[in-house]
Amino acid sequence: MSDCDHKSCGSTEKAWLPYYYQGRARGLKPHPFCAECGLVKNLSSDRPREIGFFLNVLAELGKHYKIAAVQTRLMVLEMERQAMDDGYGMDRMQQEELFVDIAVRMLNVPERALRELL
Ligand SMILES: [Zn+2]
Repeated sequence: MSDCDHKSCGSTEKAWLPYYYQGRARGLKPHPFCAECGLVKNLSSDRPREIGFFLNVLAELGKHYKIAAVQTRLMVLEMERQAMDDGYGMDRMQQEELFVDIAVRMLNVPERALRELL
């Protein structure tokens, strides 16, 4: 969870940054950013997923690997700590990279098994 509620800056103060559409850079586009914490708003076409999506992936993974309930709980805490549910700043690709990174570290499962489920 992010500590910030995110207030967009006004329309005059946008940051010119690369814009991605379907995973490819499509030139620069003005991005609004949060006036409070400075986080740039994600304008990717790939909408971020809910934490629930990743819980389903964990459940699926649990059919093939031994995952204790406490490990799942720790995963959720870590995903919240990393603000993975913060749709303002995170796109789907960033979420997936983070999820794989956390899961490999905390659950000791092969990266390939995770990628197949995303
Ligand atoms: Zn903010």
